[in-house]
Amino acid sequence: MEAEQAASPHKRIRIDFAQRRRLLAVLGGNHVNYCYQCGACVGDCPTTRFFPSFNPREIMLTALLGDLGTLLAPGSVIWKCSNCYNCYERCPQDVRPVEVIIALKNLAREEGTHPEEAQTIYETILKTGRSAPVIASLKRKRESMGLPPLPAIDMGELRAVLAPEDPPPGDSPPSSTAESES
Ligand code: SF4
Ligand code: SF4
Repeated sequence: MEAEQAASPHKRIRIDFAQRRRLLAVLGGNHVNYCYQCGACVGDCPTTRFFPSFNPREIMLTALLGDLGTLLAPGSVIWKCSNCYNCYERCPQDVRPVEVIIALKNLAREEGTHPEEAQTIYETILKTGRSAPVIASLKRKRESMGLPPLPAIDMGELRAVLAPEDPPPGDSPPSSTAESES
């Protein structure tokens, strides 16, 4: 019997359905379940081109197996996704891999395993309404290109969505921002 098992070409696969349900709850749907591993999302992924270790098909498979321990670990490959949405356009099954990856990133933040850089961007958005500060040179560049000033952002509304219970980081920001950042 032992010899038969050792010689068997079939590998036993375990699926953690509880962890998969946890992902689906954040995802707000079950479209990841329809991935049939065709690899179309890989062929047009710019991140895979530069980082062969990043493979959206493999990420979907790992998610289907419910192996969130791997996907949410510190330094997880999910953070290499550039959110370009090519995979969203390519997938014949409407799996929307980028949305699955975004859901995984949200779970990683809940667990505190996200990279420091992501936290910095989050805090910048919470403070200024933008992912990067609008510095003076950027304003001058916009002016030289004939672009209008950036519109004001309703910070109250933004904070209500992003962090309704969190105190604002640092000093209290103004209730709205336009060209005030420097
Ligand atoms: S996510 Fe879509 S494109 Fe990618 S392997 Fe699965 S079915 Fe194919
Ligand atoms: S959104 Fe992410 S996974 Fe999808 S093609 Fe772009 S980099 Fe690749």
